[in-house]
Amino acid sequence: MKTFYNHLHAQHQGKVEMFRGALVPCFEVPARADHVLAELQRRQLGAVLEPQAFDEAALTAIHSPRYLNFLATAWDQWVALDAANADKDILPSVWPTRTFRTDIEPDNFAAKVGLYSYDAGTPFTSGTWVAARAGANCALSAAQVVVAGDRAAFALSRPPGHHAGADFFGGYCFLNNAALAAQHLRHAGMKKVAVLDVDYHHGNGTQAIFFDRPDVYFASIHGDPRTEYPFYLGHADETGSGAGLGANLNLPLPRGTDYATWAQALETALAGIARFGADALVVSLGMDTFEGDPISGFKLKTDDYLRIGERLAKAGLPTVFIFEGGYAVQEVGVNAVNVLQGFTNP
Ligand SMILES: [Zn+2]
Repeated sequence: MKTFYNHLHAQHQGKVEMFRGALVPCFEVPARADHVLAELQRRQLGAVLEPQAFDEAALTAIHSPRYLNFLATAWDQWVALDAANADKDILPSVWPTRTFRTDIEPDNFAAKVGLYSYDAGTPFTSGTWVAARAGANCALSAAQVVVAGDRAAFALSRPPGHHAGADFFGGYCFLNNAALAAQHLRHAGMKKVAVLDVDYHHGNGTQAIFFDRPDVYFASIHGDPRTEYPFYLGHADETGSGAGLGANLNLPLPRGTDYATWAQALETALAGIARFGADALVVSLGMDTFEGDPISGFKLKTDDYLRIGERLAKAGLPTVFIFEGGYAVQEVGVNAVNVLQGFTNP
C-alpha cells in the first residue's frame, strides 16, 4: 500500500489550546505523524511517496472560496495587526451563534476568525495553511492512485480534517481531507462513495458537507455527542436530508465502550455501506479510540486495530485511508499501522 506523506505537516505546530478553562500545550503535535511514519518504515508496508500538487479547483469542490481565501491570508492579516503577533498563535475568541449573521464577512480580524471557526482549541499558526495544503495533496494523491487501480492507499498527513466544514475550522482541522478524497473519487467516475469515520469524535464536518447528497454515504462510529466533542452533531437521528436522506448513519457509543461492542457498530456501518452500494471507501482513520488516549473514552487495544484492518479488507472496496486523530503519541504509530497491516495481510 502506498503512503502519501509530506514533511511540511510539521510546519503546523500549535503552541497552546483552550482546555477546561486553561491554555494548555496542544495535543495535536507533529510527533504523531512522525511515529506513524517510523512504524510504516520499520514494517516496510509499502512505498512512502511525496504527494502530487493539486490546484485550487480540488479544494473549491468542497470548501467555499471566501473560507479558502481567509485560510490563505489569515497569518499575514494577523501579523499586520501587530508585528509582535508573529510569536503567538491565532485563537478564536468570539463566534456568531444562532441569531447572528454569517453572510457578511466582518473587517475586524477577531470577528473574521470567529466567523470561520467553532472552538478555541484549534490554533492557527504561521505554518497552518502550508501544512493543510500539503495534507490535502496527500489525501487527493491517495485517492488518485486508487482511481488508477491501487486497491488502497494511505494519506499520512496532519492537521487532521474531519471536523472541518465547507467554511469553518475546528477540532484541530482546517481542510476536510476525507471529503476532498471522496469528492475526487466521484469526479474520477466512481458513482457512489462511502466515507467511514472511525475516529473517536464524530466527523461533523464531513457529515455537514455531504448531508444532502445521495452520492456520498457517511457512516460514523463515535463517542456520544451528549458528552463527547464535538457535542452539537453526531446523534443517531441524523440520517441525511433532501436527496441525501438515508445516506447518513451515526452510531454514537458511550464512554468506556470496548472492542466487542465497537466491532458490532462496525458491522452495522459496513452493512449500511454495502446496502448503499458504494464503489469505493474513504476511511477517516482516527486512532483516539485507543484505551490510552488522553482526551477520549473508548477502550480499544493495540491488537484490535489489526482486526479492524482485516474487517475493512473484507468489505472488498477500493479504499483510501486518511489519518485523523489519535493523541496517545507513543502508541499512535503502532496502532495506525496495525490497521493498514490487517488490511493488507489478513
Ligand atoms: Zn478524534
